[in-house]
Amino acid sequence: MPSAAAANPASPPAVQAAMSLARESRLLASSASILGWDQETMMPSGGLEHRARQLAQLARLEHGMATDPRLGDALSAAEAEVASLPETHPDRVNVRECRRDYDKATKLPADLVEELASVASIAQHEWAEARKASDFARFRPWLERIVELNRRKADCFGWDRADGERWDALADSFEPGCTAKHVSGVFGPLRERLVPLIEAVRTAPRRPDGRFNDHPMDIDAQERFGRFVCGALGFDFARGRLDRSTHPFCGGSHCNDVRMTSRYSERCLLDGLGSSMHETGHGMYEQGLDPAWISTPMGEAVSLSIHESQSRLWENQVGRGMPFCTWAKAQMGRHFGTAADGFTAAQVYEAANMVEPGFIRVDADEATYNLHVMVRFELERAMISGALEAKDLPGEWNRLYKEYLGLTVPDDRRGCLQDVHWSGGMIGYFPTYTLGTLYAAQFFETAREAIPGLEEGFARGEFRALRDWLNANIHRQGRRWLSDDLCRQVTGKTLGADAFLRHLEGKLRPMYGI
Ligand code: ZN
Repeated sequence: MPSAAAANPASPPAVQAAMSLARESRLLASSASILGWDQETMMPSGGLEHRARQLAQLARLEHGMATDPRLGDALSAAEAEVASLPETHPDRVNVRECRRDYDKATKLPADLVEELASVASIAQHEWAEARKASDFARFRPWLERIVELNRRKADCFGWDRADGERWDALADSFEPGCTAKHVSGVFGPLRERLVPLIEAVRTAPRRPDGRFNDHPMDIDAQERFGRFVCGALGFDFARGRLDRSTHPFCGGSHCNDVRMTSRYSERCLLDGLGSSMHETGHGMYEQGLDPAWISTPMGEAVSLSIHESQSRLWENQVGRGMPFCTWAKAQMGRHFGTAADGFTAAQVYEAANMVEPGFIRVDADEATYNLHVMVRFELERAMISGALEAKDLPGEWNRLYKEYLGLTVPDDRRGCLQDVHWSGGMIGYFPTYTLGTLYAAQFFETAREAIPGLEEGFARGEFRALRDWLNANIHRQGRRWLSDDLCRQVTGKTLGADAFLRHLEGKLRPMYGI
């Protein structure tokens, strides 16, 4: 087995030299990632100040390695060596993607990077205070600065001036190749069918039975049950962990050391279970990356949206389906004694699929979640283009919530101040949540065609065929293709909303009698 530090011996010499340098910064980043995980799960609160210094030092060193001119020179030499190889050859992919990362890292001047980091750190504090007091005026000057700095950042990266817009350059950091035009081309048809579907649910003749969402279960037993389910889905606990944290996430250092976290609610088993299954999707993507290519693009995930497609697939396509609910309900006796005896699998299923428009994105159900994302995409796009001034954000936010979700936003705390992303300087991030949801539905339809009896197997607790299919078709591909090219490779089609809408309508129409 090749060691993580050595270059791949089959690669030509200039490629090996470039990859050795590229691996250095990635190796350091993987150490920072373990410290970050430790901070959220194990570290006593007294460690915070020193940990911040440790992480800042590692980030500085990593940036130095990632922008080292020697790496740029080594990549130029490697580019000549791989020029005649096919586009998807691992060596060519590694050189191309390292060049993409290097150009991104070197295009921003150091003073802009520093200014962004320091403004974002104050802005996050001001945002937290403003949110508590529901006081948009307090956050507004910081939002204006964040938008201004992001516009400068986009200008440093550059974008297609004939056919694109500034927002594209920002989204590219989270989702390589993503453009506002592509996103709105996918979101438009989704919104057209989603808004009337949710309206029909609101006024539906039948109300599903949601009582299982309000049924206290022992927290420690929930955690043990979560571990049991994640293991059954195919997460390898010899190469990963599941711990508790305030905000669930998936981190770790590489494919053989994946650190997931979840959180549990006393009142509702499905909250914690859904979050554990979500992180397991992320975790199995990380574990499925090719160990032969550790610390190179061929051993890395494609993008945020493809990562999110893996988590949403296990959380929504599998976890909210009747076959899974049937199996999971049958396992509850072993973990909870008689605590869930009063419920049937059908009641668990209905509770998992309730649709309830609300103000808060992170609490939203599978259907309305995407409308929350669309509002944010439209508003950040308009702020970056200059069509919307920060001072007009609350009014526009509230207008879109009325139009898309039929809700009157009562205050900015439950409105435009609810998310951390913009205060942290992250513009161009939100659409990846919904793109991931749509990729998940499209991948799952393809998997169902490819694997006979797939969902019947779920009802018996057999999930490995799906994990192995995702492993071969998505995880092992590394960064060989950008998101939408991967989608075409796997499903034969470019990304659209149809598969997701079929999935949603197929469940909600019978459940609500519409
Ligand atoms: Zn996620």
